[in-house]
Amino acid sequence: MIVMKFGGSSVANRDQIDKVLNIVRGRRGQALVVVCSAHKGITNALVDTARDAAEGRYAPEPVIERQQAIAAELGCADELLAPFYGEIRDLLRGISLVRELSPRSFDYITSFGERMSVRCIADYFVRRGLAARAYDVWDLGFITDRTFGRARPLPGYEATMKAAFAALPADEIPMVTGYVGKSTQGDVTAVGRNGSDLTATLIAAALGADEVQIWSDTDGVLTADPSVVDGARNIPLMHFGEAAELAYFGSRALHPSSLVPAMSAGVPVRVLNTNRPEHPGTVIDDHSRASESVTSIAYKENQIAVTLRSTRMFGQAGFLAQVFDILGRHGVVVDLIATSEISVSMTLTDGAALDRALPELSALGECRVVRGKTLLVVVGQSLAHRAGLGAAILGATAEAGVNVEMISYGLHSINFSMVIDDADIDRAVPVLHRMLFEDRPPA
Ligand code: ASP
Ligand code: MG
Repeated sequence: MIVMKFGGSSVANRDQIDKVLNIVRGRRGQALVVVCSAHKGITNALVDTARDAAEGRYAPEPVIERQQAIAAELGCADELLAPFYGEIRDLLRGISLVRELSPRSFDYITSFGERMSVRCIADYFVRRGLAARAYDVWDLGFITDRTFGRARPLPGYEATMKAAFAALPADEIPMVTGYVGKSTQGDVTAVGRNGSDLTATLIAAALGADEVQIWSDTDGVLTADPSVVDGARNIPLMHFGEAAELAYFGSRALHPSSLVPAMSAGVPVRVLNTNRPEHPGTVIDDHSRASESVTSIAYKENQIAVTLRSTRMFGQAGFLAQVFDILGRHGVVVDLIATSEISVSMTLTDGAALDRALPELSALGECRVVRGKTLLVVVGQSLAHRAGLGAAILGATAEAGVNVEMISYGLHSINFSMVIDDADIDRAVPVLHRMLFEDRPPA
């Protein structure tokens, strides 16, 4: 069985949905599960509308009209989504009255994107002669905890899900919502923004699928972000570890957590291009090795760099333990760390969590917080074993006039990480890409 997930751009409009129809039709011979995101832009529009409502501006019509236009283009009857439009209006009215957008209401309002998209896509497929049926994933066993904004299925969901899928009619393709879930109490939850990939891998893991396919708009995973590097090229094979690293450090191709279920269940992930379905894309599994030792360049912007300086740190055992205890208690996730005798610098993403931790951190020493930093990462196997690679990377960034403020380069790690200014991304990434992939192909 194959789980196929189509992202927002793959289901953006009728042209794109026709491509999806052809792709799915071409694989009819095998058991399929199709997971869909919301149409491109709908989730963001729901978020904006909900934030407006929380500030007292009740304006549900633009987002509803946007969804309506796609449904009309697909020839769906008005009744198909009318109940959802009614619920969206009611919910936004409620948010605008209480002027509060809780994480729980956030998940509820954003869930409509996927709930509406699967319904109109399945309806369209049926009218085009492909037997399909829309499902909310929670009706197929995707019951989660109540961690709104990053809900995860409850332990043991696999068996429930297996039974639910086994009971579905074999002659119809199930078209399932990504992103959403429901708690045992019946609250709508969500796995987190861009989380439909994760829904797909969780389903694939539960069902023991032969493969999970992530269909998007690039030729698989690329050596760099194609919006910054013209010559970015496909990586045919990757190991789970490298792909996870890359996803975490900002590759737009995959949701960071999405590889975990596939990795633990041993289900290979294939990343494919809806606009060029004949391209083999990228296969990610636990035995593939990228043919080149440097696989890719990724970056994560909008990072915060924090430096804590304290002379008490000098030669004292347990100082860093205190620092990380504080960070841990306040839920601060740290990406990169560099330490010297009297200071420790680190980068992180979550400013709100940092604000909670700062008073206690400041009690340990002097804290400097700088925003607008980018974590730039070269991912590959055994980088530290390649003599001169670090120097070459730093040389290339210097040549581009980019100042590197921190680096991290572990012996067995599969990345070489640097901290630069957000404003330097456009200069640093193309130069590194040229050096690592275009001028002299890595050994
Ligand atoms: N529609 C959701 C979002 O935009 C989930 C996804 O597209 O993966 O965040
Ligand atoms: Mg996506």
